[in-house]
Amino acid sequence: MQGIDLHTHSNISDGTLSPELLVQAAIDVNLHTLALTDHDTMDGLQRARIAAQGHDLKIISGTEISSQWSRPTTKKSYGVHIVALNMQNEAPILEALEQQKRVRAQRAKVICDLLEKCIGFQIYEDVLAKVEDQADRITRTHIAKTLVEKKVVTRPQQAFDRFLKEGRRAFVKFEGLGLKETIDMIHESKGLAVLAHPTRYDFSATNVRYLIELFAASGGDAIELPPPMETLSTRQMIDRMIEQYQLAVSIGSDFHGENMPWIKLGNTPKPTANQQGVWERFL
Ligand code: AMP
Ligand code: MN
Ligand code: MN
Ligand code: MN
Repeated sequence: MQGIDLHTHSNISDGTLSPELLVQAAIDVNLHTLALTDHDTMDGLQRARIAAQGHDLKIISGTEISSQWSRPTTKKSYGVHIVALNMQNEAPILEALEQQKRVRAQRAKVICDLLEKCIGFQIYEDVLAKVEDQADRITRTHIAKTLVEKKVVTRPQQAFDRFLKEGRRAFVKFEGLGLKETIDMIHESKGLAVLAHPTRYDFSATNVRYLIELFAASGGDAIELPPPMETLSTRQMIDRMIEQYQLAVSIGSDFHGENMPWIKLGNTPKPTANQQGVWERFL
């Protein structure tokens, strides 16, 4: 499976490389297939496609959708990221992303207003400057970096731990599409729905299991394999659920450039012999 990376970010969302430089980096590490999966946008796709022209690199359309799910027994809803891949009919997803972008833009201002109450000054204009004044591109990563620049915290992770993550004072839930709505919309767009990084949500093992069951029952196509750095027992737990629910697997690094320098483009986990790659459906 070498040569494939189906989860990456450019600076259209919270990566640091432009779509053009991401494509060049993919060529440099000998990828033959790259999906650009920026948060709630496909605005970098055309630029990536143009940059890849004349090279031995196939660009797959993609986006990472901020979705949500809940357990019927409790009122609480949880955020979840669904990677949409290889859309052959872009109209439905582009329409859905317009709404996701409105939610993202409004949420960013609410987060900054909550932060003002914590730190005593407003950072919204500085955050906006990081995304060429396009509020619908703002992620919490941009807000965390601004808090570092303003010397409120020393590292982005500290910004999440003190203010931005669930349960902290400036956390604002992303009121995105529901899980089933997201999967249905991706299928209308003739794409494939992948549950992103199943072990990265701070959910209990019970909730991870429940989420995967719900994802499968809602028609989801594939589960992203945990990154190579995860423990063997975590990987085995996910492998068992993939087998139980008869899902395909996807592999992606979740590359963010210098925002997460420990993640290397193309460094993806290896599927086991009996796992079916979601890429087999489009390569
Ligand atoms: P947003 O879509 O605005 O909620 O931002 C989500 C992005 O913030 C994720 O894709 C990560 O890149 C980053 N992120 C989320 N949680 C954390 C965390 N606890 N520590 C560091 N980065 C995080
Ligand atoms: Mn991100
Ligand atoms: Mn994600
Ligand atoms: Mn991602």
